[in-house]
Amino acid sequence: MSKTVKALLTACALAAAAGAVSAQEQVVNLYSARHYSTDEALYTGFTKATGIKINRVDADDAGILARLKAEGTASPADVILLVDAARLYKGEVDGLFQPIQSKVLTDAIPANLRSMPAADGGIAWFGLSTRARVIVYNKVKVQKEDVDTYEELGDPKNKGKLCIRSGSHPYNLSLFGAVTEHMGEQKAEAWLKGMVGNLARAPKGGDTDQIKAVASGECDIAVTNSYYLARMMRSGKPEDVAVVNKVGVVFPNQQSWGTHLNIAGGAVAKNAKNRDNAIKFLEYLASAEAQNYFANGNNEWPAAKGLNIDNPALKAMTGNAPFKSETIPISAVGANVTKVQQMLDRVGFQ
Ligand code: FE
Repeated sequence: MSKTVKALLTACALAAAAGAVSAQEQVVNLYSARHYSTDEALYTGFTKATGIKINRVDADDAGILARLKAEGTASPADVILLVDAARLYKGEVDGLFQPIQSKVLTDAIPANLRSMPAADGGIAWFGLSTRARVIVYNKVKVQKEDVDTYEELGDPKNKGKLCIRSGSHPYNLSLFGAVTEHMGEQKAEAWLKGMVGNLARAPKGGDTDQIKAVASGECDIAVTNSYYLARMMRSGKPEDVAVVNKVGVVFPNQQSWGTHLNIAGGAVAKNAKNRDNAIKFLEYLASAEAQNYFANGNNEWPAAKGLNIDNPALKAMTGNAPFKSETIPISAVGANVTKVQQMLDRVGFQ
């Protein structure tokens, strides 16, 4: 081998090694519970804009929290995305996140949609999109007036009509935690008991299954996250169109405390090795462009202030008018969850 070729090869090897090192520095390791394929393009957009590569691990909320605990300080996770307020709260309480200071994030995300600040002002997690927990009903058999509050789900007038997924599912734990915050523990427990008495069948399935059960006549009233209904409204499948045509939707409690909003949100992992990149990624997700895509892609509303989205299903669902949503700090919901689970056990809500 000639000296020149040898020198060239060495230079190449060094360049390759340098490339590998800088590529290694420019990553963010993401644990995500977002089960929405539309997020994919957004992650690609972040990499294009910043050069930071995203390594993603998908699991559900509970799986991610368990994994973080098991991995401890060795965890490679930098950013955690979860799809429920109570789970975010639990991650915070279990010490799995590190509070961060970011003016970009605190300017963008309203105070009621993020964790309570730590003593030094750090925030453990931020809501990044919002979804309403709405009531759907059989338009022929049910009067809207009989289901336009959460309270009426437990009213004896709706006996034998209600379908709902397991009470212990995070979406319901968060809703019940919010209702407990609004009406107090005693009334909330009586309300849960009322709902058990109104069930058309034992809780089973996901939110979409409840909507379908109303359309099929198995029940007359159901509870769902707004995006599951929006997804069906935007579907061209004849079977989905048939379901949507049979059901009405109501945003509950417009005359009182407002409709319960849950969040999907993000946090920086306690042992993040790429902390700066993690903050950059969360800040990117709160930007107007990313918010529009992040929320709209899954038919949600942005969490960031002052943004309007142009989503035909959400417009149709709300009659193209703003609806009143609750304003309690979403972290209060998480704080009520243990209490709620005990109430569910007492009233026999599966
Ligand atoms: Fe979901």
